[in-house]
Amino acid sequence: YLQLYALTGNQVIPLDRMIPIEGTFVGSVFTQQTVAINNDHRSSRFLDCQWLEEGGLLSCMDAPLICDANCYGTLNLAHRRVDAFSESDAKVLASLAAWVGAKINNTKRLDELERLVRVDPLTGALNRRAFVEATQEIGSKPRHHDHQAALLMIDLDNFKTINDQYGHPAGDQVLVEVSDTLKNSLRSDDLFARYGGEEFALLLRHADQGEAARIADMLREKIERLSLRYRGADIRTTISVGLTVPHADDRSFEDVVCRADDALYRAKQQGRNRIVYLSASTDDSRF
Ligand code: GH3
Ligand code: MG
Ligand code: MG
Repeated sequence: YLQLYALTGNQVIPLDRMIPIEGTFVGSVFTQQTVAINNDHRSSRFLDCQWLEEGGLLSCMDAPLICDANCYGTLNLAHRRVDAFSESDAKVLASLAAWVGAKINNTKRLDELERLVRVDPLTGALNRRAFVEATQEIGSKPRHHDHQAALLMIDLDNFKTINDQYGHPAGDQVLVEVSDTLKNSLRSDDLFARYGGEEFALLLRHADQGEAARIADMLREKIERLSLRYRGADIRTTISVGLTVPHADDRSFEDVVCRADDALYRAKQQGRNRIVYLSASTDDSRF
């Protein structure tokens, strides 16, 4: 089906009407990707030409919106008279349509580029740049510690040995599966990113320290249970997690990241496959 996007003048075809590609004049222009004129709708076999005729429009010409190999749709013009359009009219419409097609193409490419800049190509998770960008907004809020966010820095344990033992492609697959497992366990407003090589950052929104610790341990267990098949081998891995929450004394979100890094370092020191929570105030007896 083709979808009508904009319409001016005679509204004989309603905007919400879906137009089949099969059996319509506009559909044939769309599939053949060349401009065409239909200068007499009376007794036309095309469905759209019949609709136009019923609405008092007896001629039309349609041009494809193409750029490179892509056809995005068509640009259409209709007239009350029979024999309204000439070959040179068709050329004008075709060049207008080519210009519109190029514009659409550029916009789509820009959207794709913007996506590529934000996404890690291996895992499909956000990259560090996108994560930092998103968290900057949180850091600039004056009372960000009230938002009950929690930051987890997650690092795969002894990942280098997986590369050494099974090869780099196996390591890549482990990264993808771990990333997917973590991602699929989260809520939609949580922020998850591949922060570096085998390190992930997770910002939980609306989770206090206790809840964040429970989530962190749930994730740790999930990864511990994960069995990764690679060319007949059963690869196992674990994660260490550094956990912290923003504090009123934090100057920026970077302070929170540093503290989570520090907590992660301690988790490694204490033997890996564990969560370490670090609070901003060291004299805080609650933790
Ligand atoms: P630790 O428990 O202390 O974190 O040990 P580790 O081996 O996980 O950490 P280390 O920093 O010594 O090694 C990380 C390894 O991760 C080294 C690097 O080659 C590998 N790595 C980083 N990015 C990628 C990647 O995209 N694919 C693969 N296969 N390996 C990667
Ligand atoms: Mg590691
Ligand atoms: Mg690391």
